[in-house]
Amino acid sequence: MNEYLSSVLEEVEKKNSNEPEFIQAVREVLQTVEPVIDKHPEFKQTSLLERIVEPERIIVFRVPWINDNGKVVVNRGYRVQFSSVIGPYKGGLRFHPNVNQSIIKFLGFEQIFKNALTGLPIGGGKGGSDFDPKRKSDNEIMRFCQSYMTELYRHIGQDVDVPAGDIGVGAREIGYLFGQYKRIRNAYEGGVLTGKAICYGGSLARKEATGYGLIFYVREMLKAHNETLKDKTVTISGSGNVAIYACEKALENGAKVVAMSDSNGCIYDPNGIKLDIIKEIKEIKRERIKTYLQSCPNAQYFERTSEDSPIWDIKTDIALPCATQNELTLNSAKKLVANGVLAVGEGANMPCTQSATDFLLENKVLVAPAKAANAGGVATSAIEMSQNSMRFYYTFEEVEAKLERIMINIFDTCRKNAEEYGCTGNYVAGANIAAFKKLADGMMAQGIV
Ligand code: NDP
Repeated sequence: MNEYLSSVLEEVEKKNSNEPEFIQAVREVLQTVEPVIDKHPEFKQTSLLERIVEPERIIVFRVPWINDNGKVVVNRGYRVQFSSVIGPYKGGLRFHPNVNQSIIKFLGFEQIFKNALTGLPIGGGKGGSDFDPKRKSDNEIMRFCQSYMTELYRHIGQDVDVPAGDIGVGAREIGYLFGQYKRIRNAYEGGVLTGKAICYGGSLARKEATGYGLIFYVREMLKAHNETLKDKTVTISGSGNVAIYACEKALENGAKVVAMSDSNGCIYDPNGIKLDIIKEIKEIKRERIKTYLQSCPNAQYFERTSEDSPIWDIKTDIALPCATQNELTLNSAKKLVANGVLAVGEGANMPCTQSATDFLLENKVLVAPAKAANAGGVATSAIEMSQNSMRFYYTFEEVEAKLERIMINIFDTCRKNAEEYGCTGNYVAGANIAAFKKLADGMMAQGIV
């Protein structure tokens, strides 16, 4: 890293010393954009990097709600409005007990680059709460969402900031959040949230979009290296929204998915995972993945006993981490490489630790970086917003076709930028460079703001 980049990183580390995930996300970007910085002395003159790493605004708030036993519970809510240079802040809400400012800031920072790559007019933001939706009744979820929105509503709007789902926030939570927003505002502003149910303004194919988009990206990446998904063995961590629809599209492309997981452990079914059973366990019953064995007794279950998920010990051609940040460690990367992995596609945000990514790239594994490979979700959210503005719906096929075109474009952009800046085949660098250039151009055009 040149002197300017190093000094910015040092300052970020100093100012945010208790935010390791945020520092990790910033470091990864700064390490790859040096060739662009070298070409543009005006970026240093206008402190462009210092500005890009500082969120425009952080909102932290109290979320009090009453549980089913009548006890008042207090959670902490967040919304980080990171950058509006390209459009209204856009990014999901995460409800998970480990949510803190570092996690929300890293997600917000990643989001501005991801959104830039989609080619659509959306800025970057992220939010959430340390609320744990597991084992809560529907009524508790509703009361929490209503309280959360009672503060958040004043900071969002369809041209201001448009939240969506993420871990722990799906169509049910978006519904409760939307209902409360509409009640407070006394107006139907459909585009204020995305990931809505189809019956009141959601987009067909939004639920499937992140997982499908990941597979479109991986398919394009494999194609560029004369490979296909057909007959490849695939392992997918997680069994939530992204994982389930990545699995569905991988199967459609002729791949064989042999393992999936949740935070407790993973199932391995060498005959191929039965996706309808996973959907029933996770989307309907909201149970642990272990119960898969009740329907498929020949499958195996491996309990998670350390930070290294047992799923990465399984031999596979393609590994798709689709659960959470830093879930694929250097140890796991070594196992994947030893087992001959061909490609890793990041469905989750920052699922590989920095040393895992470095190791995979050094060993010529194809890496589809999260910012690019999971951008299909937010791209389809932008398509949902445009349908809300038009008061009009596209068919499932129309949305999927748009999503596919966007993902092909994103891959092409990553490939071309990697080639142009001397790192052919390194799509991590290609994605960061392409997104950074777009953001930097916008920032230069809009003056010091
Ligand atoms: P869901 O809540 O639907 O599913 C999350 C899955 O990951 C669950 O199987 C969950 O298991 C597992 N998981 C969550 N936290 C951990 C943890 N700390 N350790 C191990 N496993 C964990 O979330 P999504 O599928 O929506 O999101 C998954 C990832 O994809 C996240 O990184 C998210 O930021 C990213 N993403 C999501 C998009 C979307 O459109 N939904 C768009 C772009 C990125 P358990 O049930 O046991 O907690």
